[in-house]
Formats: sequence, structure tokens, C-alpha cells
Amino acid sequence: MANASWDVVIIGAGVSGLAAASELRKSGLSVLILDARDHVGGRAWTRHEPDLSAPIELGAEFIHGRAPETFELLREVGKAALDTSGAHWTLRDGKLVQNTEDLFGDIQTALERSNVLKQPDISFEAWLSRSAQYGLSPEAAAMARAFAEGFDAADPARVSAHFIAREWGSGGMLDSPQFRPLGGYSSVLAALAGALDRENVRLQLQTVVREVRWKRGTVEVDAIFLDQPFSVRAACAIVTLPLGVLQAPAEAAGAVRFVPELDTKRKALEGLVSGPVLKLSLRFRRAFWEELDGGKYEGASFFHSAHTAFPTFWTSLPLRAPLLIAWIGGPKAARLSMSKMPDIVRQALESLSTIFAGRPPSEFELEAAYLHNWQTDPFARGAYSYIAVGGGDARSTLAAPLEDTLFFAGEATNTEDEAATVTGALQSGERAARELTERLQAKKVKGPKG
Ligand SMILES: Cc1cc2nc3c(=O)[nH]c(=O)nc-3n(C[C@H](O)[C@H](O)[C@H](O)COP(=O)(O)OP(=O)(O)OC[C@H]3O[C@@H](n4cnc5c(N)ncnc54)[C@H](O)[C@@H]3O)c2cc1C
Repeated sequence: MANASWDVVIIGAGVSGLAAASELRKSGLSVLILDARDHVGGRAWTRHEPDLSAPIELGAEFIHGRAPETFELLREVGKAALDTSGAHWTLRDGKLVQNTEDLFGDIQTALERSNVLKQPDISFEAWLSRSAQYGLSPEAAAMARAFAEGFDAADPARVSAHFIAREWGSGGMLDSPQFRPLGGYSSVLAALAGALDRENVRLQLQTVVREVRWKRGTVEVDAIFLDQPFSVRAACAIVTLPLGVLQAPAEAAGAVRFVPELDTKRKALEGLVSGPVLKLSLRFRRAFWEELDGGKYEGASFFHSAHTAFPTFWTSLPLRAPLLIAWIGGPKAARLSMSKMPDIVRQALESLSTIFAGRPPSEFELEAAYLHNWQTDPFARGAYSYIAVGGGDARSTLAAPLEDTLFFAGEATNTEDEAATVTGALQSGERAARELTERLQAKKVKGPKG
């Protein structure tokens, strides 16, 4: 393929790449977006089954809190956000009981009492080992550990206690309701794609970027497009590669070699971790749990069970669908990701069997199971990022532009307490595009020698 020249090349057509391109629409700049996959959206990937009332989300599913950016996009495509609140049931001593205590409130109080943000950073596991002195019960401490693994996809022994305290603090995303975009995250992607200026923006999928050579004012990208070598040149680039891809050794599948290397980002890349998650959507003949025990689980949104292979399941509430989503995050998810699909499904069904009083899995009448393994996906290498002990300002260092030429977006670069989410990816893409246009504007004002 012939070399072509663009004002901006965006690497990655996930939420952050699309958000950056749509923010650039007023600039009149020519933009080329490249992505290795055969579809846009990256880690937001919805499957629609014609005979199911709920979409199947292989990646992102919830909107955490009333994130204005995400709600605005839904408005643009005329879609609503569905409040997902419902009853949480937990397996205790072999019986499902409805959660009534506010253990999460106890954890927030203990974090505040410990004044953790005023102390040198330690691992969350180290903080948990001292948490009794801040009044945390062993049960609440166990829940906190499970939540760090399940929600943050984190290893408690690696994750920064500062990061946890900030994210879980009162008034944060965890004190807000959770929603789902009606029609799935594909509605949000449709709004983003619809906002692209097709005169100036070109999208090219199935393009695996291999090398980025850069110096002030010039970027050359080498890639493979449909098995053929492909090269482009641009004045600058917005790099939205996932954290796991940026951390991968140069020879690994999906990895991108930067020439010169991104030396100033090395410490930031060491301070962040790409957390593992395994999310399995199980489709049954009918919503069997709604019929059990006199129908008391009809309003269930979540089932929790600390000692089964999959500790969390959720329903499609408020939509009614014969779907249960099995979820596990953190080190156990990394281990389970190495198993083959039949084994993963078997472990999920056995977990359900334990949760529902030992009923044999065959009673559940499984029709299908859907899984995308984000850990082994060379273009993701993990689900979403968290901060390791001492990684304090890693996100802002990773986000910082280089030589007014390389700009960085992606959930891991979000510094507005929304990292690891779709909203975080949206904000980061918009921020990187604004940085780029501001720098170009400043150059014009200063003139060529400025
Ligand atoms: C299982 C799972 C569940 C989640 N649940 C939620 C949730 O409920 N709510 C929420 O808000 N967030 C959730 N998230 C996180 C959310 O999906 C991400 O934060 C967000 O989608 C990241 O967007 P991004 O643009 O930063 O990265 P990505 O979407 O990963 O985009 C980066 C793009 O770069 C491309 N790429 C990678 N390597 C190359 C290469 N060499 N050449 C060319 N292109 C390349 C990729 O194909 C990808 O499309 C979840 C994620 C996962 C995996």
C-alpha cells in the first residue's frame, strides 16, 4: 500500500479513539483511525441475539453513576439508561439470604478512620491486615478483599491502598446507582460513530499496528492491513492502546514498537496493572431462578457466593431475560482464564448448583454460553487498569503528550477518577483531542519558529 499523509493518526477505535475523533470534528484536521479488530468499540462489544430481549455484553456493561458524557451520548441516539437496582442475595451457611447490612458503609468508615491517604502508600492487603484496629469486622474485611478483586480486578497484595481509598470514598462512583445503556453499549458506540466527520475522518479496521517511528512533528506508522504491509505518515498521533498492550514486550503479538522508545513512560507503566476479569454469559431455556423457592428471587439483580469458583452472578434486571452473567476478577480470574471454555462453563454451572441448594446443573437447561477472553486477547491483554502500590501519579504521567506529537488516551490515562470505565475512556479521548488542537493552535499563533 502506498504511503499516505494525514494530520492525525489515531491508534485504536475503542471508546477513547472514537471519542477523540469525534472531538476533532470541529478542527477540520484530516484523521485516520486504525484498529486491529474487525469492529469498532474495543473492550465495549455487544452481541445482539435476535431471540433474546437483552443484549449480551462481552465487555463493558454498566454505567457507574450518572456519568454526564455517557448519558449525553445515549440522548443523541434516543436511548435511555436503565437503573439496574434490585435485590442482592448472598450464600451464607448454605442458604441464600438477602443483603440488608451496609458492610460497604463500614468499609468506607474504616478507610476514613485509618486516615490512609495521609500515610505512605501500602498494599490494600497490608491495610486489611490492620483493619480490625479501625473497627472493621472480619466479615466486612473479607467483603472488602472480594470487592477489590471483583470490582477493581485487582490483586489485593499489589493494589495501592491510596487508589482504593480514593475510588471507594464517600460520594464516589460506588455511592451512585448503576445503569445499563438500553440496547447495550452498542448504542453508545453508534452515537460516537455517528458524530464522526466522514469528510475528514477515515476509519480502517483489521490493521495491526507494529511500529511507530516518531520525532517532533512527524509520525510514521507501520502496520499489517488484511495480511499486507501498510504504512502511513501523520503530523501527530493519538495513542489509545490498552495498558496491557503498552506493557507487552516488543516481540509479543499485538505489541507496538515505538522508535525512539517511550522512556518517560516506563515508570508509569510499572506503576499500573492491567487487571484480569472473566465474564461468562449463560443463556438458559428460561429464567429458572425466578421460579425457585416460591419466586423470592424474581427481583434479584445479584447473587454472591464467596467460596464457589465464580463468586458473582447477575441478572438482566430490569429487563427479563433467561441470562445469568458469571463474573470473577483478580488473580483467580487470571488463573481461570488459562482453562478451556468447557471447563470454565462447568465451573460456572457448579457454582450455580452450590448457590441454588445443590440442584444438579442439568436442571438449569443451559442453551448457550458466551465468553471473550480479554486476558489472552493480544489487543487487550487484560480487562481494565488499576494502580499498584506507590503508583500514585502514574496515570497523569502516562497521559502526558510527548513533543507535541504523541498524545495519549485510553481508560488507563484517565485522571478524573473514572479510569477503568467507559466514561473514563470517553473523557480521556476528548482530553487528548483538546490537547492536540490547543498545541496546534499555539504553534500557529507563535508561527513556524515558535
Ligand atoms: C469484561 C469487561 C467488563 C467491563 N465492564 C465495564 C462496565 O461494566 N462498565 C464500564 O464503564 N467499563 C467496563 N469495562 C471497562 C471498559 O470496557 C474500558 O474501560 C473501555 O472500554 C476502554 O476503552 P479504551 O478506548 O480505553 O480501550 P479499548 O476499548 O481497548 O480500545 C483500544 C483499541 O486499540 C486496539 N488495538 C490494540 N492493539 C492494537 C494494535 N497493535 N494495532 C491496532 N489497534 C490495536 C484494540 O483493538 C482496541 O479496539 C469492562 C471491561 C471488560 C474487559
